Amino acid sequence: MSVPYQFSVIEKALIAAAVALTLVVWPGDLMATTAPVRTVAMTNRVAETPFPGSPQAIGSAANGCLSGAMSLPLSGPGWEALRPGRNRNWGHPALIAFIRDLAGRTSGLGQMQIGDIAQPRGGHMTSGHGSHQTGLDVDIFYRLADQPLSDQERAEPQMESVVAEDGSLIPELWGDAQLALLKTFASDPRVERIFVNPVIKRALCDIAGGDRAWLRVIRPWWGHDDHFHVRIQCPDGNGDCIPGPPLPPGDGCGAELQSWITSGDWKGLPRLPLPTQHAHRPEMPAACRAIISAF
Ligand SMILES: [Zn+2]
Repeated sequence: MSVPYQFSVIEKALIAAAVALTLVVWPGDLMATTAPVRTVAMTNRVAETPFPGSPQAIGSAANGCLSGAMSLPLSGPGWEALRPGRNRNWGHPALIAFIRDLAGRTSGLGQMQIGDIAQPRGGHMTSGHGSHQTGLDVDIFYRLADQPLSDQERAEPQMESVVAEDGSLIPELWGDAQLALLKTFASDPRVERIFVNPVIKRALCDIAGGDRAWLRVIRPWWGHDDHFHVRIQCPDGNGDCIPGPPLPPGDGCGAELQSWITSGDWKGLPRLPLPTQHAHRPEMPAACRAIISAF
């Protein structure tokens, strides 16, 4: 059993700075004068339409792209899509079919509120995410809508943490509907992993009883207290799609989860590489260079 690493004050300040930079712009973009020219050209422009051709998720969730993307309509049976102005409602057709299916199956709970999926060709986003690059990731709000959203509600959704300062779950925002929503997602064999706040994972572990297999794909991560993040498996025939590392055995309710709770990391910031260690983004897969830069 490993002891969770404790950050020093200086490291925490550096991490806070790194997070702030990532939310605005990836640090590598600030180093544009020393980056390869082709990288600068690609990061300055995001295609507004998908790359035509067969649906292929290429590379990994944190360094990849997408061809043959499909868009999710603003609303449909069981769902409402948020922030249309971002143009991040694009995904691999397998993910779009998955979202439609899950929204239909959970419509009795309310209207599922869908946050970012991916850009039309996936790839790195200049704000908000390190992943979501291959069209296989989607953010779902814990809050369910009970009526169609107004334009204002859709454009500027309420971001409400279901986790209180003391680490308890807020009863008005967390209940049976959220549990049922997460369990439905986690029980679907198409899912590779789901990220939730560690406090939420602990609540699921406490309530699951003897039926625990579905807990395994639900992993604790920083943030994720107002939405959860779902990643589906690499679709069949997508040979250039790089899956995430295999999940550890078991339900994930043991020592690793406990370390998130006791260390206080459940309310901390994402653990990103320090700026000095990671001045540039990793090299993009060759196929993605062509997809992202073709206009
Ligand atoms: Zn996400």
